[in-house]
Amino acid sequence: MSLFEELTDKVVLVTGGHQGIGEAVAKTFLNENSVVICADLAFDNNDIAKESEQLYKIHLDVSDEDSVENLTAQLIANNLIPNVLVNVAGISTMNYLIESKTSDFDKTIAVNTRGTYLITKYIVNEMVKAKRPGKVVLIASQAGKNGYRAMSAYVASKHAVLGLTKTLAIEVAHDRINVNAVCPGIVETSMKHRERKDGAEIRGLTPDDIEQEDNSQVPLGRTGQPQDVANVVLFLSSHLSDYMTGQGINVTGGMTMN
Ligand code: NAD
Repeated sequence: MSLFEELTDKVVLVTGGHQGIGEAVAKTFLNENSVVICADLAFDNNDIAKESEQLYKIHLDVSDEDSVENLTAQLIANNLIPNVLVNVAGISTMNYLIESKTSDFDKTIAVNTRGTYLITKYIVNEMVKAKRPGKVVLIASQAGKNGYRAMSAYVASKHAVLGLTKTLAIEVAHDRINVNAVCPGIVETSMKHRERKDGAEIRGLTPDDIEQEDNSQVPLGRTGQPQDVANVVLFLSSHLSDYMTGQGINVTGGMTMN
């Protein structure tokens, strides 16, 4: 059921749209009859490909400037400058800071922070040039507000995403582009399942121990589903959030309250 008919035929770019939170975001906008472009490392085609009436797919590596430039050129050539950008693509690596690999730190910052910088730089520039008011939603994390054991690179990368959110929000406010971040808590995706395995190994526990620990930390009594995040992304992409910009909105079942 469409909640916001205003999003019908609006162009929505979703990075990381292949699976997990990004996939839920893409499906949510398709339900709104938006035109959705999913851009993801998992897709092979460097030319934009039409999958169905409202859905396009294209390869993207957010950490690679050439790839972001190619995406931008493809959007321009196909008359698909976005009204809404949702940057979901991200990765995580786990280890205690003093034992971690510098290459893991670099990779995490390259995708989560540099990737957010590149995608917003290129896409928001086109939105401004096209004089297109719109919404930008960046997926940060509660790790953008708190520290977490064995996640220093990820925590640093997501704090930086909130810094980019606040700065870009000020810079494009007069272009009538709102920029907000969503800070999910623990969401059941393949990233989270891999983190439970890695975390269990590092801490000498089992993934089930960590799952129980995860559930016990959430005041609402359950971990999140991708749709919980997509619902808030939809709100931040609609007129209902017109007076919000530069915010980092927690979607954590109450686990983070700051
Ligand atoms: P996921 O691993 O299920 O999905 C991530 C998607 O991003 C994949 O489709 C992957 O191919 C794509 N991707 C990875 N690197 C990319 C790159 N360089 N360029 C383009 N696409 C790339 O993960 P998820 O749990 O759905 O996470 C999505 C976002 O939500 C991430 O930014 C993550 O940090 C954030 N997040 C997740 C959780 C959680 O608990 N799952 C919590 C807080 C924040």
